[in-house]
Amino acid sequence: MNYHSTRNSACTVSAAEAIARGISEEGGLFVPETLPQLTMDDLCALAGKSYAERAGRILSLFLTDFSEEELSRCVDSAYSPEKFDCEGITQLSKVGEETYFLELWHGPTCAFKDMALQLLPHLMTVSAEKTAPGEEIVVLTATSGDTGKAAMEGFKDVPGTRMLVFYPEDGVSPMQKLQMTTQEGGNLSVCAIQGNFDAAQSGVKKLFTDPAMIRELKEKGMRFSSANSINWGRLAPQIVYYISAYVTLMEKGEILPGEEVNVAVPTGNFGNILAAFYAKRMGVPFGTLICASNENNVLTDFLDAGIYDRNRPFYTTLSPSMDILISSNLERLLYELSGRDDEAVREWFSLLAEEGEYEVSDEVKDRLADEFFGSCCGDDETLETIGRLFKEYGYLCDTHTAVAVKAAEDYRESTGDERKVLIASTASPFKFSGSVLQAISDGPVPENPFEQAERLSALSGLPVPPSLRALQGKPVRFDGSIPAERMEEAVRSLLTL
Ligand SMILES: *Cc1c(COP(=O)(O)O)cnc(C)c1O
Repeated sequence: MNYHSTRNSACTVSAAEAIARGISEEGGLFVPETLPQLTMDDLCALAGKSYAERAGRILSLFLTDFSEEELSRCVDSAYSPEKFDCEGITQLSKVGEETYFLELWHGPTCAFKDMALQLLPHLMTVSAEKTAPGEEIVVLTATSGDTGKAAMEGFKDVPGTRMLVFYPEDGVSPMQKLQMTTQEGGNLSVCAIQGNFDAAQSGVKKLFTDPAMIRELKEKGMRFSSANSINWGRLAPQIVYYISAYVTLMEKGEILPGEEVNVAVPTGNFGNILAAFYAKRMGVPFGTLICASNENNVLTDFLDAGIYDRNRPFYTTLSPSMDILISSNLERLLYELSGRDDEAVREWFSLLAEEGEYEVSDEVKDRLADEFFGSCCGDDETLETIGRLFKEYGYLCDTHTAVAVKAAEDYRESTGDERKVLIASTASPFKFSGSVLQAISDGPVPENPFEQAERLSALSGLPVPPSLRALQGKPVRFDGSIPAERMEEAVRSLLTL
């Protein structure tokens, strides 16, 4: 299986190269040349297998230049039950008659990013050995809050790798910030920027493709890669949990083999929902893919009208990991839906860079309408949804997941589609204790994030995740912030270029 670039179909690389490089030279994203197909028999054959076994099987279809032994070493280290607080690695919670929460946050940093970032460092070191033995990999990462921490936990002290994380100074929750500023590990560095996630992501993408920088790095025996979902090594592991969830629903008798299930995903950079789309294209019977946004509703408008317009105010919301106006992975979807038209993709994304806006063809609009439904809600509705879910069902969800719950409700109401729905639950409610407390109780919310977490625990009967509790009293290793324009300088100084 080879990979092409979304901006140059003639560019062909192996899986290992796609993962080691992260992004193509001309700024395009790597996509598999075909999507492997799974029959219902293939899906049924995954029943009774552990999560790691399922991951090994599915990933072997995409990472064909990895040996079976290499791949099983990678998935066994990533998805070992000691690192996750539930045996199945992910957990399905049924709420009401037709809604299933796919809880993806039982890993070390309490967000769904762990599902991919526990595995990525392993995939990346194997890929680097295959493609550029001896070179040191410098992983540059922009984060809207959760990727940074999850990536650092994954890459902490991994030989042959260094990592620098950029996060928006005022765009993350107190717990998220503490997770980053107290991060341990000799090969890691964290830098707050005065700007939002889009500024961090654009800065990182620019550095990746800067020819002078690439040359200087090469002279020092280093190369850049990415831990963001622009890296195929992030996306492939995300396809696994959608396939696995469908298998588990069948296994438990919740659905009949072949029964269609809708999927609702709280969306920012479009990585998670794209993984659901790929799973569907591979043969998993998914119905409508419900793309949920917060007040930064650029995707809702795009799915409505086919016009992507980032020229709009940026809002800081209670679901900060979705505060994004440039959703990188949409590029992969548009490549697919345009019939792999690299020329059209190049044009749209250069319009986006220059004018902040582009409009897709009528054909692509029709295909989007066939597969997706977009919906958005504000902070008030987010809190109202958390409160209602807790009151009616005793089920607690975080602010991001609540946005998806609301979108799934909007979808059902506006279409009458009664199929069961799988909600991607992306973070532990304890990562956003302040907001969640506000949603489920009337009393004043304590200032201190640890007191908030204890209060939330007392009200819900759920334990505070030990990894969050352990942040209390940890020394801050990284403080201060820089303007976004100085990201290059920060990289140069860290790498002594
Ligand atoms: C990253 C993140 C999202 C958005 O996921 P994308 O793959 O960027 O669309 C949603 N919720 C949480 C909690 C996240 O950390």
